[in-house]
Amino acid sequence: MPPPNEDDGDAGTWTNWAKTQSCRPAEEPHPNSKEALIAIVNEAREKGKKVRCAGSGHSWSSSSVTDGVLVIVDKMNKIYPPAKRTYPPENESWTVEVETGVTIKQLDKFLRTHNPPLAVPSNTVLESVRYGGVLSLGCVR
Ligand SMILES: Cc1cc2nc3c(=O)[nH]c(=O)nc-3n(C[C@H](O)[C@H](O)[C@H](O)COP(=O)(O)OP(=O)(O)OC[C@H]3O[C@@H](n4cnc5c(N)ncnc54)[C@H](O)[C@@H]3O)c2cc1C
Repeated sequence: MPPPNEDDGDAGTWTNWAKTQSCRPAEEPHPNSKEALIAIVNEAREKGKKVRCAGSGHSWSSSSVTDGVLVIVDKMNKIYPPAKRTYPPENESWTVEVETGVTIKQLDKFLRTHNPPLAVPSNTVLESVRYGGVLSLGCVR
């Protein structure tokens, strides 16, 4: 599957992966931290601009289309160390916290090399989509 949005040829135009939606946002920031994201939202609020966001752009919907600020979360891809949960004892499990821009592939690769190896039991089909996009639309296999 080709990477989304990164080579649409037309600078300033955002297009979803299926090329069924496009827009020309006034700004298209790629924050790489929560602090940077907060600053972008605060500045947009002060200027009266609307904010939308996009992950990998694999949704067919128009929910990322804007002429305001389109935040692309592809640089927000930190994965924090998994934590073991021991309660209830009969249901031992692990949790892992990720930033919104982590892709299915990035987390899968990370968890496979963890000791012990881990896996997310339910996933979407595409490995290039990001957890923010998956969770916001409630995607399932
Ligand atoms: C070929 C193909 C196959 C697919 N197969 C499946 C499938 O089997 N099952 C399934 O459920 N879906 C499937 N989808 C749909 C896909 O999983 C969803 O569209 C998913 O949302 C894509 O993730 P994304 O990172 O590309 O999100 P985007 O398309 O970039 O964004 C989707 C939505 O999430 C919002 N969003 C993104 N990040 C955040 C955030 N941090 N905070 C708040 N909102 C956010 C965006 O604003 C937008 O509204 C498929 C799509 C394609 C193109």
